[in-house]
Formats: sequence, structure tokens, C-alpha cells
Amino acid sequence: MSFDTVIMVDWSGGRDRGATPKKDAIWTCIARDGAAEAPLYHRNRQVAETWLRDTLAAELAADRRTLVAFDLCFAYPAGFAAQLTGSDDPLALWDWFADRVIDTPDANNRFTLAGQINALFPGTGPFWGNGRPGHDVDHLPRKGRDRTGHGLPEHRATDRAAPGAFSPWQLSGAGAVGGQVIMGLPTLARLRHHFGPDLSVWPFQSPDTSIVLAESYFSLLPARLLTDHPIRDAAQVSLYARAFSALTDAEWRTVLAVDPTPEGWVLGLGHAALLQKAANPVLTPPPLRNDCFAMPQGAHWTPVDQALAHLQSHLSSVTGTEDIALAHAAGRILAAPVTAARSHPPHANAAVDGYAFAGPLPEGSHTLPLHPGRAAAGQPFAGTVPPGHAIRIFTGANIPAGTDTVVLQEDTTAGAAHIALHGPLKQRANARRAGEDLTAGEAVLPARHRLTPADLATLAACGTAQVTVHRPLRVGVLSTGDELRAPGDPATDGQIYDANRAMLLADIARWGHQPIDLGIAPDDRPTLRGILDAAAARCDAILTSGGASAGDEDHMSALLQGTGTLALWRIAMKPGRPLALGLWADTPVFGLPGNPVAAQVCALIFAHPALALLAGANWPTPQGYRLPAAFTKSKKPGRREFLRARITDGAVEVFPSEGSGRVSGLSWATGLVDLPDDAARITPGTPVTYIPFTSFGL
Ligand code: AMP
Ligand code: MG
Repeated sequence: MSFDTVIMVDWSGGRDRGATPKKDAIWTCIARDGAAEAPLYHRNRQVAETWLRDTLAAELAADRRTLVAFDLCFAYPAGFAAQLTGSDDPLALWDWFADRVIDTPDANNRFTLAGQINALFPGTGPFWGNGRPGHDVDHLPRKGRDRTGHGLPEHRATDRAAPGAFSPWQLSGAGAVGGQVIMGLPTLARLRHHFGPDLSVWPFQSPDTSIVLAESYFSLLPARLLTDHPIRDAAQVSLYARAFSALTDAEWRTVLAVDPTPEGWVLGLGHAALLQKAANPVLTPPPLRNDCFAMPQGAHWTPVDQALAHLQSHLSSVTGTEDIALAHAAGRILAAPVTAARSHPPHANAAVDGYAFAGPLPEGSHTLPLHPGRAAAGQPFAGTVPPGHAIRIFTGANIPAGTDTVVLQEDTTAGAAHIALHGPLKQRANARRAGEDLTAGEAVLPARHRLTPADLATLAACGTAQVTVHRPLRVGVLSTGDELRAPGDPATDGQIYDANRAMLLADIARWGHQPIDLGIAPDDRPTLRGILDAAAARCDAILTSGGASAGDEDHMSALLQGTGTLALWRIAMKPGRPLALGLWADTPVFGLPGNPVAAQVCALIFAHPALALLAGANWPTPQGYRLPAAFTKSKKPGRREFLRARITDGAVEVFPSEGSGRVSGLSWATGLVDLPDDAARITPGTPVTYIPFTSFGL
């Protein structure tokens, strides 16, 4: 019952939309086995119909059973068809429309035709809505409430069961679907006649043909499952195509088991959970809780470790998951543990080039007769070696039946029919046991682990071709400040170049997330608000720099304050002023200080582990090393200090200036010295903790 190919179609009742992909146009997407191709844009119905006909012909020729679902009512509420065609058969109504609709890329008669249909019914209606201001259409009221006495129901039974479904009588206004139904049925009729007995229309006909047409509805699944395609229609066809194409045979039977009512039915209606599971085998996690950044605020400054512990216990993964090919999985985070599909090695094999025989061999010299044939990697010896015989074998070859031990070729003298060698040799010497590395069914890697290049080798070796990983975390970076200019732009005396954005975007890329450049925002609240709104829709997390303190010009913290989720973290740390943390439309925002040195140190200490959790990974604790200091410092108690540092001759040197505006010190350094909260007196030779930047994932 299942389908090899699913094609999802978002139809449109409007005019030609031009060459560049746009919203509210026709979009299609092809999916097979739960994987969707890129969505396709069709500028008008003529182009789309040709594409559908050609694509279906190709699927038919390739012997792939295909389901095409349209977001288009396949029938009208009861009583309508009979009045026009004398029959309740919705397919006869399709032909009726095909005969009367006039359609070119630039003009069509949908409003006039709707008026003509209204004239066939008593009273006023059922169609209403007029897309042409100032141009009245005979018998077509402008408002829904102007209709009376037409005698038809507003909705079909399936629309009443589908939350938010629009009435097919409404021809204009936001969300109206009436126009696209009138402008879609003729295409459906022509496809049906073109493919004849190879095509059926669900649920009116039994869906046991190579091509099945059905109507669906793009509000069956939660919007958060949509991909981040900038055009919603494209994201929708992609999601629904993927979900339907992942249904199993049994699931298809469930979804298709609907009584063949002449009003039709929305495919998938009532099966949202099933589709959601198909679209997304591991469910997308819920958004973060509103109070995730709320720390008990006192008069005291919060120690760094306490702030970190808070982040660690309050943040969790916000990304959904996907199945991807192993070859593309380096750097991705496992969403599910991987178990070995196969043992490694799958069979006992030779660790060296030499001769295989049945061990052990006692002390002394031996001569073993050579058995004809050879065993090489990929070319196993098919027979059994008789007791007391040896056979030529090469590294990686399966150990032949009748043998279990290998002697190194350099330790033998080989004649034409015999080899001579010295004992003793232990049983199974120079042979690798089957499964000695990994056994089938054994846990190889846990969930939350970020895949390294070596992991790809391990997983490939035990037969893994696909892994379930978290979708990459999309992290936006925004610089704020009226004084900022992008490098390359002209700048006056009062202006400085934006140093933070390039640095933070590069941090994010190094951490394996997807950086999104949000540009520079002025110190102006309405503008900043608009930028954050747009950013929250595209990003899973946002890093901003500047404006995070509590002053008049600190607009980031003021805006986050307005969401009710702001927590201004006063952290006992140098460098770093308050950190503004909050949620903007469910999206976590990390408001970092503006000073580049403080911005980077706060990013490394706080954003790095926090983003790892949001991305679905484990909390990373940076590995530090105890090394002798090469500097002198008296440190005050009550705050943690991070100094820019590097190693010279095995000792830790620090940047001469602690000024947090000295960005060049970040380039000079290869890591940070981490000085604890307490007071400290450091002189050359005092052990200090040095954390290289690589320990922060850079
Ligand atoms: P703020 O946190 O906005 O008060 O900024 C603190 C200091 O950092 C000021 O001197 C700003 O000019 C500077 N600053 C803020 N953002 C940036 C940036 N993106 N690049 C370089 N300097 C910055
Ligand atoms: Mg500022």
C-alpha cells in the first residue's frame, strides 16, 4: 500500500508570480523514503501543470508508485455538485470546471465564474469575496455576511474536523482558499484524463493505482517542525512530503482507511502524531522555560562557578533531529546512541603476512606441509586446511577453516611444498579475534557525543551508514552601538570598527554551530526590537555584544527587561561587566559586554558551554593545565580573573596590560590564565591554571 514517491503541492489561485521564487506561489516537493528533495518553485499554473504531468510520467516509467497531495479541496460541501452537474460525483464537477475556467498566466475568470455559479443558486451566495477593488462582479457579494438563502453548508465534514480550515466559498482576503480550488480542479481533471486507468483519486476511488491524487492540509503538523527555508510555502511542502514519504505500509493503510464520502477528506487528518513521528523520529524538544535565566539575585556578585552551574541545570537541547549519511556527520552531535550493527572485525583475520596453521606449536624446529591455495584480504580461502598443514596467508585475510594461528613470513623458510619454522607459537598468535574490537549489538557511542573524524572510522567499521544527529544550532550574532562601523566602511573620529562580530561568528563556526550574521544595530530601541524579532524567527540562539549593562544607553538589557525574562547577571569576574540573559520570542539571547576582550572571555566561559547544551551536546568543561607562572601579581579576593596568556619556555606569561579594550592582547595570547575567586600572590614559579583556547573549542 505504501508509496515510493510522495509529491506535495502548494497550489495558488493567483497570476504569474515572476521568475524569482516568491511566497504565495505554487511550490512542490518530491520526497522518497523520508528524505525530501529541494522544494521547487513554479511561477504559474501552466508551468506547474506541465511539470506535474512530466514528473508523473517519469515516475510511472520508473515504476515508482506515487502519491500527489494538493492543499486544495477536492470537493465542495454537499449539494453543490448536484446543482451544477446533476450528480453528486465530485469528479464530474472537476470536468464541469475544466470546461468553464479560462486561465492564462496573466488573467483568469475565477470571479466572473463564481458570480455565474451564484446565479444558479437561490438567494445570494454561496461564493463571496472580490479581489478587484472598485470593480463589481455580477452576483458576487463582497462580504460573507451579505449572503442569504443559498442553501449550502459553509464547510464540509472534513473541514469541520480540521482546525482553522477556510471555507471554499471565500474567494479573497488573507488565507482564502476559494480561488485556488476553482483554479485547481481543471488541472486535476486534466491530469486524471491524461493518466487514465493509472490514476485514482482518493478517497473517491480505491487507491490501488500507480498514481494516487489526494488533498491534504498544511496545518496538520506543528509549525516548529518547519525547516528554516525563508519561504514558508517551500518549508511546508518539504515537511509534509518528508513526513508522508516516511510512513510505513501499515501506517499508510491506517491513513488511507476513510469512507469514500463525495465531500472528500483531508489526507492525514486525525493522524498528526503518526505524521509527526514520521517527520521527526525523535521529537523536537519543547522550548526553554521562561525562567531559565532567573537566578536568585542578591546584593552580592555571583561567582562564575555558580553562574555556570545555573546554566548547566537550566538549559537543554532546542534542536530537532535528522538522519544523515555517516560521511557528512563529522562535527555533528549524536541524538541517539549508536550500537554496532556488526562485529569488528567480523571474522578472525591475519594480523601479518605469513602462514596459517592450527596452533599451538611447541618449542623446537618444525616442518609443515604447505596446503595449496592462499587466503588474502577480500579473497577468503573456501576450503578446510587439514591438520598439521599450513597455508599461505596475507594481512587482513580471514583465518581459513582448520587453522587459528599465523606465523610471520620472516620467521619461516619456505620451500616448494613445505615451510620450516621454530616454536614455540601460542595458539591464535598473530590472528585478530572476531569482534575483538567491537561486538555486534554493543554500544559504540553515546547520545550527546560530537562526532570526530576518528568516530566516522569506528562507526563505518561496525557497519553504520546513517546516524541520527541534532540539526545544527543556528546562532545569530549582533553588534550593537551607534559608534560601530563595519570594517571597510568609512569611519569618522567618533566611530570605531566592529571587532566583535567577526570574532563571535568565527567562534560559533569553530564550535560546530551555524553562524548567522545579524549585522550592526544602532542604539535605538524600536530598530533593535525589529532586528530581534526577525532574528528570533531565524535563530535558535542569539549572541549580542554591547548595551548589556544597566545604563541609559544599554538598550539590549532594557529590551530584554521588557520581555519579563531578563536576568542581569552580575558575575564576580574580570574581565566582564553584567551579562544580560533573556528569552526573545522563546529564543535565548546572551547579551555580552561590548569590550572585545570581555565579549570574547564571556563567550568562551559562558556562551561556549551554554550553546553546546542548546545544540544537544554534553556540557564541556575546559581542560586546564597547571604550569609555573612567569609573572608577578597580587590578586584581590572576591572575583575570578581570566588573564590573556601564553607559554614561553614551559612557563605562563601574561599580556602586559589587563585593559579590556586591548583587543590585540587576544591575538597575542594562546589561552587564559584562570585565577580563582580568592586572593592570591603569584610570583615566578607559582603554579597557575592555564587553559589553552583549544580547550574552549577554538
Ligand atoms: P557597551 O557595552 O555598549 O557599553 O560598550 C563597551 C565598550 O565596547 C565601548 O567602548 C564600545 O564602543 C565598545 N564596543 C561595543 N561593541 C563593540 C564592537 N562590536 N567592537 C568593538 N568595540 C565595541
Ligand atoms: Mg554601546
